[in-house]
Amino acid sequence: MLNIILFGPPGSGKGTQANQLEKKYNLIQVSTGDLFRCHIKLATPLGKSAKAYMDKGELVPDTVTIGMLKEKVLNHPEAKGFIFDGFPRTIPQAEALDGLMSEINSEIAGLIALDVTEEEIVGRLLERGKTSGRSDDRDESVIRNRFQIYKNETSPVEGYYGDKGKSHLVDGIGSIEDIFDRLCATIDQLIPADV
Ligand code: AMP
Repeated sequence: MLNIILFGPPGSGKGTQANQLEKKYNLIQVSTGDLFRCHIKLATPLGKSAKAYMDKGELVPDTVTIGMLKEKVLNHPEAKGFIFDGFPRTIPQAEALDGLMSEINSEIAGLIALDVTEEEIVGRLLERGKTSGRSDDRDESVIRNRFQIYKNETSPVEGYYGDKGKSHLVDGIGSIEDIFDRLCATIDQLIPADV
């Protein structure tokens, strides 16, 4: 299996790139943000509780997020690998993910962080908010809050995998195609022998 974490602040292009990487490497994309938005659309109890956090730009509690993620992964025993986008966002989530990978006799091949500045991100997200229909992209204070939470709670995850020699940094500025090529060059080095 080839399991990759696509990492970076909100608006760094994870979703766009994960979509394309999913196809190229025949992986299953797991975006916890998309899963939450799907629950909200279907008005499930999980969606209702997640919405209050998402509207403020806060993280949904780990227990809820990890449970949802596990269910998605365990529903795909046929997967050749996963590309995680927007997960893990806390150290307990990273530990839970490693535990889950062991359960399916696999592991995380690497975390790839997209390197983008805060100013670039605020501009990109406000632009995306005009068309994405996402309320959390329309309000600059919510965007700044998401970035702050990223710095405080999420960025340590990069060090967590760095300590295992599994973190890689890729320049996230440029055209979608150029960034895609850079990501592929990194992923090609991570492909285990059994894939
Ligand atoms: P995203 O689509 O990844 O930008 O996520 C949108 C929102 O969903 C975030 O601002 C959080 O409120 C919530 N969310 C998504 N993924 C996670 C996660 N791994 N842990 C906690 N909350 C999350």
